[in-house]
Amino acid sequence: MKALVAVKRVIDYNVKVRVKADNSGVDLSNTKMSINPFDEIAVEEAVRLKEAGVIDEIIVASIGPKESQEQIRAALALGADRGVLVQTDAKPYPLQVAKILKNVAEQESTDIILLGKQAIDDDNNQTGQMLAALMGIGQGTFASEVKVEGDKVNVTREVDGGLQTVALSLPAVITTDLRLNEPRYAKLPNIMKAKKKPLDEKTPADFGVEMTSKQEIVKVTPPAERKAGITVASVDELVDKLKNEAKVI
Ligand code: AMP
Repeated sequence: MKALVAVKRVIDYNVKVRVKADNSGVDLSNTKMSINPFDEIAVEEAVRLKEAGVIDEIIVASIGPKESQEQIRAALALGADRGVLVQTDAKPYPLQVAKILKNVAEQESTDIILLGKQAIDDDNNQTGQMLAALMGIGQGTFASEVKVEGDKVNVTREVDGGLQTVALSLPAVITTDLRLNEPRYAKLPNIMKAKKKPLDEKTPADFGVEMTSKQEIVKVTPPAERKAGITVASVDELVDKLKNEAKVI
């Protein structure tokens, strides 16, 4: 069995995001970039399935600028086998990403396609769903547990009020939620080995996908500054303020 894992290059979640002065977007200069955290969980799940003997090969794919190679190499260091970089300097929107991933998945005949539930930069939560629809296959979104049994995969999903388990026939799309697993750290020897693993370079045009979008970002603004907090001297004072100033109790 083969797995395809989609990894997006995003601003590291520890970095405080700066909005460009002209409000056209987020300033990425001299900013630490990483694998989208949910995609790291997707890589970890694929590696665990490989370690369990369920999967034979893991392919990671990223659509983005040349520097996205760094994130592919990081995934290779975590245990993926080879990478595909679909290079573009255009901003990739979910539908375009889904169309490209569909091509990669079909060319590679992958059985399990793992994505994050959302990319933390644009918070779209769309790509996995679009991909499953375009491919006409099942989807298990917000996965907190993945169990492959024969030609089926049972995906436990975090839904309102509890957990739901769905059975999907393979191939299927799975998007990861936070509690699926805790990703490992790459060991130094594996980082070195990852440098020698194969990394294919493609363009969206190789898959017949145009990067023009029907969507345009009009404006990006930073969130309102939070007001400074205060320290109260006693519980009584706190209760008084909550009652009479904040009027929340
Ligand atoms: P989104 O729908 O944009 O919130 O992204 C959901 C998931 O789709 C991400 O967690 C990634 O697994 C995948 N994805 C989105 N954009 C890209 C990209 N440019 N390259 C690779 N994977 C992506």
